[in-house]
Amino acid sequence: MKILLVEDETEIGELIKNGLEKEGFVLDYCQDGDSGMEHAMTRSYDAIVLDVMLPGRSGLEILKVIRAGHNNVPVIIITARGETEDRIKGLDLGADDYLPKPFFVEELIARLRAIWRRSSETGMSVLSVGTLSANLMKREVVRSGVQIEMTPKEFSLLAFLMRAPGRVLTRTQILEQVWGYHFDPGTNLVDVYIRRLRSKIDIEEGVPLIETLRGVGYRMQDPDNPEEG
Ligand code: CA
Repeated sequence: MKILLVEDETEIGELIKNGLEKEGFVLDYCQDGDSGMEHAMTRSYDAIVLDVMLPGRSGLEILKVIRAGHNNVPVIIITARGETEDRIKGLDLGADDYLPKPFFVEELIARLRAIWRRSSETGMSVLSVGTLSANLMKREVVRSGVQIEMTPKEFSLLAFLMRAPGRVLTRTQILEQVWGYHFDPGTNLVDVYIRRLRSKIDIEEGVPLIETLRGVGYRMQDPDNPEEG
């Protein structure tokens, strides 16, 4: 799940960032209103966590512009104590939820998962490809009835591949969506993780689920529409 965090207080921001990353979220982290706005308008996110009082543009101004552009990305606003009015304004402007400071990161994670659950209620909370299934809410992976342990990063990578069966995903796309890198770190990070995933999910005889397209990227097999080979 890719999140944009806009928070100017470094201490709180770092706390949120570390907490979310530990749970496998990918973050872009902005510390002022202008860069927050620029990110929100030019990149795509699964949710935006928006502080209200920011240098440059306020969180509420950013929210207003996002919604004016008919962008329905879920937004959680975080407000300082006593900013009841901002909270109400935020909800009026189309925020999905709010959290008054101080809060526990666990609380924010729970809210983000709840938003994700609501937006994926159309049956998308369990992804499946053949005998492999991944429950996005419980973060559980099962192959042919056998539960498979995954690290948060492995899970994010698997979910990203499973969302697009039959589609080729390049290393660049994977690095951006799963690791949040907008650059090539010049390592074989993706390949290493793919290898680990394969060793965990390919516990059955037959065609491996993740296909390598040499020099291009990777593809999750689409069992409904198998490719040659
Ligand atoms: Ca602030």
